[in-house]
Amino acid sequence: RSGFVALIGRPNVGKSTLMNHIVGQKIAIMSDKPQTTRNKIRGVYTSDDGQIIFLDTPGIHKPHSKLGEFLVKTAQDALDEVDLVLFLIDAAEGYGPGDRFIMENLKKVQTPVFLVVNKIDQVHPDQLLPLIDRYRNEYPFNEVVPISALQGNNTATLIDLIMNRL
Ligand code: GDP
Ligand code: MG
Repeated sequence: RSGFVALIGRPNVGKSTLMNHIVGQKIAIMSDKPQTTRNKIRGVYTSDDGQIIFLDTPGIHKPHSKLGEFLVKTAQDALDEVDLVLFLIDAAEGYGPGDRFIMENLKKVQTPVFLVVNKIDQVHPDQLLPLIDRYRNEYPFNEVVPISALQGNNTATLIDLIMNRL
């Protein structure tokens, strides 16, 4: 199996930390500038099961101008080109500004989407289900995967679920 996976989510949700954990430090320190590049390779994970190519795609942000509208369209096109989208959120921060807009626009994209709930080491388990329900109410995620990118909790499960989609 092999395929392309886009990693999206607000700043500081843990995208770089997840990449460091999965593919190792060297590749993950590649530049991290959404909206300046389209589908830039961020890291490659290889195992006996196959290969996952993680991409930095332009993030979907609420536009404030004609240029902004063009960038949203570009972001949607970029996400349509990959095999899977990982939408990372920060469990400790909770539901954030822009999340609804992202999910509305993901509905226009054909690619399957996983909700990756990061930083579960920072929240009480009781907080997790209401948060996940709130997101699930707005978008029919193909999988919901709680992880701690920092501690590596459940990241092996995430890799398995990704592989099974490719
Ligand atoms: P990015 O902007 O999405 O790339 O986010 P970063 O990977 O740079 O992470 C932002 C901050 O969150 C850093 O201080 C990380 O150490 C921290 N962080 C990332 N993942 C986790 C996690 O699973 N648990 C905790 N407690 N902190 C995390
Ligand atoms: Mg980063």
